[in-house]
Amino acid sequence: MDTCLFCKIIAGEIPSACVYQDEKTFAFRDISPMAPTHVLVVPKQHVTGMDGIDELDDATLAACLRTCKRVAEMEKLTGGFRTISNCGPDAAQSVRHLHFHVLGGKQLSEKLD
Ligand code: AMP
Repeated sequence: MDTCLFCKIIAGEIPSACVYQDEKTFAFRDISPMAPTHVLVVPKQHVTGMDGIDELDDATLAACLRTCKRVAEMEKLTGGFRTISNCGPDAAQSVRHLHFHVLGGKQLSEKLD
C-alpha cells in the first residue's frame, strides 16, 4: 500500500532496525521502545490490523505468531514476554498495518490499559 508507513519500512524506503525477516514476515525495533526489548512483527502483506486478518491466509497469520516467538528467543527473553496487537481507535492503534508488539526484558505491568 503506497501510503502505509510499515509497507514503506518493509520495502526499505524508510530505514528501520530490522531484527528478522522471512518470506512472510518482517520484525523491527519500535522507534519509541516501552521496554528493553520492543520489537514490532508485521506481515509483509498489507492488512489494516486484527480486523483485517480474513484477508490473510492461515500460513501468513501463523507465521506472524511464530516470528513473535522467534524474536523472543533471539532477544533471550527467558523470563517471559508480552505480545499485543492494538486494533482501531479505542485501542489507540496508530499505524493501520497489522502488527504485534513483542515486549520484554523487564517486569511488565499487570495493567493492560
Ligand atoms: P500502535 O500504536 O499499536 O499502532 O503501534 C505503532 C507503533 O509503531 C508505535 O509503538 C510506534 O512507536 C511505532 N513506530 C512508528 N513509527 C515507527 C518507525 N518509523 N519505526 C519503528 N517504529 C515506529
